[in-house]
Amino acid sequence: MVTQINTRQVTFDENMIGTELGDWRRTTYSDQLDPSMDGKQVTVMGWISSVRDHGNLVFILLNDKQGQMQITAKAGVCPDDIKETLVKLKEQSTIAVKGTVKPSPKAPKGVEIAPTELRVFSQVEKIAPFTWQTKTVPNIDTRLELRAVDLRRNILQHVFKMRSLVLKSIRDYLYEKQFLEVNTPKMIATATEGGAALFPIFYYNKEAFLAQSPQLYKEQLTLSFEKVFEIAPIFRAEASRTNRHLSEAISIDLEEAFSDYNDIMGHIENIIKRSITTVKEYCEKTKSTDYKIPEIPDKIPQYTYTELVEKMQNAGAKTKWGDDLYPSQLKKINLTGFYFIKDWPLAPKPFYVKAKSDNDKTSESFDLMFGDLELSSGSTRIEKRNELEERMKNKGFKLDAFDYHLRVFDYGVPPHAGCGIGLERLMMALTGTENIRDATFYPRDVDRLTP
Ligand code: ATP
Ligand code: MN
Repeated sequence: MVTQINTRQVTFDENMIGTELGDWRRTTYSDQLDPSMDGKQVTVMGWISSVRDHGNLVFILLNDKQGQMQITAKAGVCPDDIKETLVKLKEQSTIAVKGTVKPSPKAPKGVEIAPTELRVFSQVEKIAPFTWQTKTVPNIDTRLELRAVDLRRNILQHVFKMRSLVLKSIRDYLYEKQFLEVNTPKMIATATEGGAALFPIFYYNKEAFLAQSPQLYKEQLTLSFEKVFEIAPIFRAEASRTNRHLSEAISIDLEEAFSDYNDIMGHIENIIKRSITTVKEYCEKTKSTDYKIPEIPDKIPQYTYTELVEKMQNAGAKTKWGDDLYPSQLKKINLTGFYFIKDWPLAPKPFYVKAKSDNDKTSESFDLMFGDLELSSGSTRIEKRNELEERMKNKGFKLDAFDYHLRVFDYGVPPHAGCGIGLERLMMALTGTENIRDATFYPRDVDRLTP
């Protein structure tokens, strides 16, 4: 039977060339091919990345998720209709090939595949605005509009493979330290901290919000599980357009009973070290040289907030004690790499942050920085109900709205501390990615709700 698989291009004999997956299954990924497989029959699948037609010889480079391989159709050896079909296929078309492995020193992995059967699943007619090799595209929106195709570019492939491995190494660390992985509600009744703007939603007949942080829930869970962590989205209505803010970001949140902010800084140090090792190993293995991997000293430097404000003032910054430290002002003292800023003023901190015992104007709190980029905020939390209520009243919170939370404090909340680490920002620091959108599969920001 002769079939037309698309409007105009290729017509072929379905005995040898099909269009449906049917019972075909991949036997081999590109990275599993090697010359010792000489003569072996394989089924490979993927996307065409280039077609070179030399008349009697047609070379196809085929990409799968593991890399690239070469299909070689030679006149007289390859069935004519397969060769004719292959030569007409455009880049990014999705195909499967059954064929015989042959050593070929110049081809990727040192082998080529001589096709005996072909399936053409998805014939591409358009030229994509970018390919696997495209390193930069001037306008990020062009890429984001076609994100799934953009994500095929090698440069992003590596970032997201590293992201996955970094997540695994962080999970491994926390499991080793006997943290329990939890999930807390993302649809909530009240704001957890004030400040950051919330996204309101309809919850049946009531107004509710998307959670800006798992803060109160993870604190409550220290009472039942002692050490918990959550890796999940946080939602923030960030009206400003920056390269470091998303409306939906992934937060790695830890909370630990019977510990204080110094213990949490210790965990963060270990997490950053493991993450760097993970990224380094990945780049060595894949010979990727496009990423700026940061160095880390044995101990991450710690500066007090007060100390830095003085330094900044000496460097001409307008910052006063009590102000937030903005990137533009921080730049003046040129701190690079990873460092902690600790003992922040208490007043601007959320109500659950504990004051320092020797100076109640400051708090047991820290930010982990990378240059002028904030990666994490953490603190020792208040465990006593009366202190918590006092802080909430001072901040003008209605205690009634938090009764669901405050009542827990009548039943033995342990001393505890924790932090939230922004995953996308961490990946920016680990890979030298400049725009947070490129550490996010489908970024959400003030201008973007699709794709
Ligand atoms: P910033 O001052 O940079 O806006 P923040 O202090 O408001 O951040 P926190 O509430 O301390 O943020 O959240 C903890 C961490 O979560 C931050 O250090 C950051 O890594 C990450 N994070 C917070 N908001 C965002 C956001 N809008 N987009 C991406 N990551 C975020
Ligand atoms: Mn913060």
